[in-house]
Amino acid sequence: MLQYNETPVITLEMDIFKISKLTILVKREDQNHRLVSGNKWWKLKYNLEEAKRLGHDTLLTFGGAFSNHIYATAAAANELGFKSIGIIRGEKILPLNSTLSFAQRCGMQLHFISRAGYRNKTTSEFMEQLHTRFGNFYLIPEGGTNALAVRGCAEYAKEKIAPLKCNYVCLPVGTGGTIAGLISGLTSATQIIGFPVLKNGSFLEGEIKSHLSYSPFRNWHLQTDYHFGGYAKTTPALLDFIHEMKKSNLPLDPVYTGKMIYGIFDLAQKGFFPSGSTVLAIHTGGLQAIR
Ligand SMILES: *Cc1c(COP(=O)(O)O)cnc(C)c1O
Repeated sequence: MLQYNETPVITLEMDIFKISKLTILVKREDQNHRLVSGNKWWKLKYNLEEAKRLGHDTLLTFGGAFSNHIYATAAAANELGFKSIGIIRGEKILPLNSTLSFAQRCGMQLHFISRAGYRNKTTSEFMEQLHTRFGNFYLIPEGGTNALAVRGCAEYAKEKIAPLKCNYVCLPVGTGGTIAGLISGLTSATQIIGFPVLKNGSFLEGEIKSHLSYSPFRNWHLQTDYHFGGYAKTTPALLDFIHEMKKSNLPLDPVYTGKMIYGIFDLAQKGFFPSGSTVLAIHTGGLQAIR
């Protein structure tokens, strides 16, 4: 079992929120573990238990060169005594960046494949090649999203978010695994707002629904206008915003949490949240990429 630290909830005290009588809270889930931080902790939890239960000694997963998931998986494997293999998209560039050199220091064996090859990573031929080369392993998909990841995030929602009794819960969305867990774990008393970090994020609705065994409530939606040009793209306005927030003691990353918090400020300014609402933003982590 990975170590877990209880995480604080902080209040954002900006004037715009006082004027519109909003309480904006941030659940600092990024602080739940020194290395395996944020939503990745919850996505990995049941996968790690399953790998152990099945008697595996090696985890294999996929990601880009700056992937929070690669970083978290390498750290978790190291803490729990698994070997780990990371299949990395693109050419090997030396020196390794800080994400990959961290993964390597955790003992992760890095294996670089072309972007074209990477696109075929879920085919059975490719899986066979991986097994021929690396033997037996427990496979965790790209981004860590599978049914066990959704289960971990549902547990998170029930245990740590539901008791806070907020009107809105906001989070950034990549693959949709984390928000699917929150939807499963919360009741219709809470509205859940996902902020896709990719362009044309409405396709994620289908992805999210595919991770839900059933969804009794339609208490969630996506705000698709806060992608800032697409995955890992930024704008000067976003970077300025992140810089300002850092001065107010809220460190954000430009790929995920920065876009969500920007979106919450913008929605608040536009009068989206009814006066008197409590809005909770989940800080899903990702700060390794900016360190
Ligand atoms: C991976 C990640 C996400 C996206 O989670 P999904 O389950 O893929 O939607 C959000 N925020 C941070 C910081 C992440 O690292």
